[in-house]
Amino acid sequence: MTQDRHHSSHLFDDARILLNEVLDELDTSEDVRQRLLQPNLSLQVGVHVRMDDGSLKVFPGWRTQYDTSLGPAKGGIRFHPSVDQQEVGTLSFWMAVKCAVLGLPYGGGKGGVQVDPKALSSLELERLSRGYLRAIADVIGPDRDIPAPDMNTNATIMGWMSDEYDAIQRDQIPAALTGKPIALGGSLGRVAATGRGALQVLDLWAERNERKPEDTTIAVQGFGNAAYHFARLAHQRGYRIVAISDSKGAIHHPEGLDPDPIKEEKTRNQRLKGMVYCENSVCEHKGAKTIEQEELLALDVDVLALGALENQIHVDNVESVRAGLLLEIANGPVTREADEALAKRNVPVLPDVLANAGGVVVSYYEWIQNRSGEYWEEDSVNQRLAERMTREAQRVMERAETRNIPYRRAAYLLGLERISEAILARGQCHRCE
Ligand code: NAD
Repeated sequence: MTQDRHHSSHLFDDARILLNEVLDELDTSEDVRQRLLQPNLSLQVGVHVRMDDGSLKVFPGWRTQYDTSLGPAKGGIRFHPSVDQQEVGTLSFWMAVKCAVLGLPYGGGKGGVQVDPKALSSLELERLSRGYLRAIADVIGPDRDIPAPDMNTNATIMGWMSDEYDAIQRDQIPAALTGKPIALGGSLGRVAATGRGALQVLDLWAERNERKPEDTTIAVQGFGNAAYHFARLAHQRGYRIVAISDSKGAIHHPEGLDPDPIKEEKTRNQRLKGMVYCENSVCEHKGAKTIEQEELLALDVDVLALGALENQIHVDNVESVRAGLLLEIANGPVTREADEALAKRNVPVLPDVLANAGGVVVSYYEWIQNRSGEYWEEDSVNQRLAERMTREAQRVMERAETRNIPYRRAAYLLGLERISEAILARGQCHRCE
């Protein structure tokens, strides 16, 4: 793998190519293209953290609002050493498309801090989270931009950030962030929502292709918030999870794995030490063979569920992929070139902007609950999620099948059509001189 492929400017270039192609096909106004080729706002901040040893460290961070024609920006916050402005910008563009595909009244946003959170103590992590929130506080809010968790951030971190936002505003404004702990206005069902939504999209695809869960094998890359809940729920539904990987290794067991005991083993140390991050890995599980992480991507399975990072299937390994279907639970796990190669081989890809949208859908429900002050039962949240995911996934799949185009293309057509309509409805003089 070349360094270049991992560079996030690549991600943004690829996103722009797809955007241009889809806009050409939509034949919409040139204004729409001009407005969508770059983000509306990209704020860079330095996050100042007093470390436990008394030293001061400054971590670079960003918050981007890509397009807000459909409503306030919405998108997660990522803590990772490779985060940069281009990556955050690309992720915010994908969020704009995703919110539109799901018919949500939101634009796209994203944020991140370039940091290795696993190297921080729990208090340093809390200071970093509060410091980042203080740095971006002027551009967020329930009607402007509503952050949520993403890679290496979770409900605990959203709780600290929500508390910091309330302190700055001298008020209680739970709707300014989503993915919060239940005690601070979080929604029941939010934690598992991304995995649950991905399973609903897979279920719909299986139903349309007359495939039964018990006859379907799945390899899952990643075992964090999104991928773990997907694996757990897919196992419950009767799918056979034959392989799982995380950042430290991978395991394979053709007879099928139960994700829950694996999760239990992986987090045992974390609970004992009371730390936010765990040091253990899926490899601790005794009932399966350990394989290389890259081997998992080439297993002969029915479904390869990619739930870890971007750029995992690329031009150098796409030919070794033997799965019958790819399910993108992570954002951007398949590069543009790999996507084209898979399309040529007629290997379908259920794209991120549809398959991992369950999280933002339930974030939307959390926001509604915070604003109305009325809180819903978990069953009600899950039922609304299922209805919306199935309805919009059906729209995407029908369009793809009727026009004989890849699911990603169909999803982008649907999303960009909705964004275009909002841009045009705002008039020619909208925020321009
Ligand atoms: P997370 O930090 O909880 O989990 C990431 C997982 O990936 C971890 O299990 C980690 O061990 C694993 N991983 C890292 N490097 C790996 C490698 N080389 N091989 C295999 N596994 C590896 O993050 P998350 O929230 O689950 O997010 C994962 C992806 O899903 C990201 O792309 C994120 O943007 C996307 N996503 C998450 C949500 C959500 O609600 N959490 C919603 C939409 C999209």
